[in-house]
Amino acid sequence: MTRPLREARIDLGAISRNVELLRTAADSPAMVVVKADGYGHGAVPAARAALEGGATWLGVVDLEEAMELRTAGVDAPLLAWIHDPATDFSIARENGVDVGVNYLEQLERVAAVGGGIRVQLKLDSGLGRNGVSAADWAAVVTRAAALERAGAIRVTGVFSHLSNAGSDADAAQAAIFTDAVDTVRAAGLEPEVVHLAATAAALDRPELRLDLVRIGIGAYGVAPDERELTGVRPAMELSAAIVSVKRVPAGQGVSYGFDHVTAEETTLALVPLGYADGVPRHASSRGQLTINGVRHHVAGRIAMDQFVVDVGDQPVAVGDRAVLFGDDRDGHPTARDWADAADTIGYEIVTRIGRRVTRTYTA
Ligand SMILES: *Cc1c(COP(=O)(O)O)cnc(C)c1O
Repeated sequence: MTRPLREARIDLGAISRNVELLRTAADSPAMVVVKADGYGHGAVPAARAALEGGATWLGVVDLEEAMELRTAGVDAPLLAWIHDPATDFSIARENGVDVGVNYLEQLERVAAVGGGIRVQLKLDSGLGRNGVSAADWAAVVTRAAALERAGAIRVTGVFSHLSNAGSDADAAQAAIFTDAVDTVRAAGLEPEVVHLAATAAALDRPELRLDLVRIGIGAYGVAPDERELTGVRPAMELSAAIVSVKRVPAGQGVSYGFDHVTAEETTLALVPLGYADGVPRHASSRGQLTINGVRHHVAGRIAMDQFVVDVGDQPVAVGDRAVLFGDDRDGHPTARDWADAADTIGYEIVTRIGRRVTRTYTA
């Protein structure tokens, strides 16, 4: 079978095995986070692979992402935690999606749907982003308890998210979260799941594992920032067919601005992937790739649709495959390597792969 010109090949078995490995290492049930189209891997196939690997929950950002899974027949427990004032929460009730609640007025709007809609209370334990502020927590909990007694909602969970600002910050957030959970129980609520840790804390902080760990990036085999992951394998390989090869003399300027000029007679190979496809322009002249198993780096600037590789005297032909990132066991750079080259994080590399890149799936 001929391969697409631009391909993100997703190894679903790798996602399943990564989930299995991480939940075993964390010794905890896992919610696998498949927001942002499964971190760019495809939400539905990633969700199925995660469940295959023993995930018992799935996490997404909003109800639109939740409905993509439900429409495809994915019926696992599912939590969504960002909503706007126009959100129709009856969709959540009808499709059995847990609604993460972030402030009192939102709680009222969710409860107005009634029918025992499933609610998870989200605390802002210090990250300063979404979630009920610690100062408002008692009032929200009191109201949630009244709404549950009235049959309008069912409080199924309590959760928060860490700042990754170091172990002291994590400990401070954990203490605030523990108090908040005590407040919930004291109000007579009995959440099924209390959860705090994402990939990094799931592995590094056993005391924060609680009832569930929320595994995102690790499931895709990409290391969180400032941490290595052992055992997991990258699930995505990004490649393209070389579309042009030419022999040029010394002194040939390459790509916009001539940041690269050939030092001697050489071969230039053109890769049809650019920043519109998610290849970060900040990795110009630095990002690495393999062609026929040989490592090269980007020559000069990455453009919208393409970049050039100065391959020297290596025999390269039109149609040969350039692999930007994939499994390092096969000698390829990783998404994390591209993140380092562009001064960003692996999350941004995999989630920004664009629509022109065809996703293909292997078991
Ligand atoms: C994205 C997200 C996660 C997953 O984080 P990773 O670092 O990718 O494991 C967990 N919880 C919340 C609230 C998130 O937004």
